[in-house]
Amino acid sequence: MLQATWELVSPEATAALAHGLASVLRAGDVVALEGELGAGKTTLVRGVVEGLSAAQAQGGADESGLVASPTFVFVHVYPMRRADIARVIHVDAYRLSSDEDLEVLGWDQLFDARSHGAAADAVALVEWPQRIAGRLPGPEAMASLRIEHLREGVRRITGRFPQHWSDREGMGALLERSPAVCPRTRVWVSPTASSYPFASERARGSDLYSWLTQGYVLPRKLEAGEGDESVS
Ligand code: ADP
Ligand code: MG
Repeated sequence: MLQATWELVSPEATAALAHGLASVLRAGDVVALEGELGAGKTTLVRGVVEGLSAAQAQGGADESGLVASPTFVFVHVYPMRRADIARVIHVDAYRLSSDEDLEVLGWDQLFDARSHGAAADAVALVEWPQRIAGRLPGPEAMASLRIEHLREGVRRITGRFPQHWSDREGMGALLERSPAVCPRTRVWVSPTASSYPFASERARGSDLYSWLTQGYVLPRKLEAGEGDESVS
């Protein structure tokens, strides 16, 4: 198991982490989201959908894809315009139980019957996974994020990932870094962004420019008493 803990000080910081998670996901993956009501599970799902949309080959989110499927109230399917991941499946299992007959509702079109992984063209994010544990991959075969409410606006997320995810590009950055505020643009930046901790190469470039032109060397007034070596 690969493991990491992040402290997220705002919903935007959590979204930036979700963008990082999105960048390492592959079709078939299941991500379990644990945490009490209001912890931030749905906020994280939204961030993953956003992250996958932003990284689409043609650029830009598929706005129509952000309309939830009306088929089931406990499953939302977000179509993606990507070759690798065509759908994000968002399951909220709060009102479900393992012995419910989900097959009649089309569960087998969303999950692989044998591996219990997501369908071959999809990633799945599951809130309240313990309610339907029997239908999901074992803990060693899926990712899980546990979200704890530390205090107003602040969450701790503990992530566990299957060992074989260590081969994935960006996985090291995701595990070792936290979302950061871009020193130039002040927006939250994903741990896996190639321009990290800047929002873009452009932001990095303009920061270098201000450094070269001494934008960082601020005239500093002596504080009263400073430089006064005398001891009374
Ligand atoms: P859940 O799906 O776990 O019930 P939601 O994502 O629907 O939770 O709601 C989480 C709420 O907590 C949102 O209103 C969100 O704005 C708020 N929030 C405050 N701080 C954070 C944070 N650091 N990360 C995520 N959500 C946060
Ligand atoms: Mg929710």
